[in-house]
Amino acid sequence: LLIAVEGIDGAGKTTVAATLAQWCGERGLLCALSKEPTSLEWGTKLRESASAGRLTLAQELDMFHKDRAQHTEQSIGPALEEDGIMILDRYYWSTAAYQGARGASVKEVLEHNETSFPIPDLILLLDLPVEVGQKRIRVRGDQPNSFEDAAYQQKIRDLFLKLPAQSQARSVIVDASQPWRDVSRECLSLFKDAALQ
Ligand code: C5P
Ligand code: MG
Repeated sequence: LLIAVEGIDGAGKTTVAATLAQWCGERGLLCALSKEPTSLEWGTKLRESASAGRLTLAQELDMFHKDRAQHTEQSIGPALEEDGIMILDRYYWSTAAYQGARGASVKEVLEHNETSFPIPDLILLLDLPVEVGQKRIRVRGDQPNSFEDAAYQQKIRDLFLKLPAQSQARSVIVDASQPWRDVSRECLSLFKDAALQ
């Protein structure tokens, strides 16, 4: 079972992913938690580029796809083969929305990814106003980096909201501006429905 948590920066993806993984752990379910960009070769380069000034769009797309190929080969593929639950903190919808907001064709990004990599059984899209996300980034002690400026995040949010109609994956939009307990509860309930099916 493949579950991806998606959304703009400050949406609470990492917290939700950890909550789902913890629920699995408490029940002894075979479960792994992973994130993109990964901490493998290409993912590390991508993270470094966030502080070092931006790559071109073509370079960025290429690196996200290389990172995802490695991630699929090393973690996602094996987890699914063992019939485990894999929870992803970001996946290819992030590429569609973030690189789409820089001008990449969302349709092409989706097509490429959905023919090259496993399609999630469920995508939880954590949606919230950009200002609320920005506040959360500051509260956790970070300054928004070059990927996180408000106008860019607004484009990303708008593109994310169009993905359910364009993607082959089943998805649910969750109101992530609620208090985090409510967000977690809602996500957990959607996740259980998928996991116990
Ligand atoms: O999820 P996390 O906060 O670790 O994301 C790392 C950074 O990569 C963020 O600043 C995010 O805005 C950026 N990112 C991106 N394009 C993607 C995925 C993430 O610019 N496709
Ligand atoms: Mg995060």
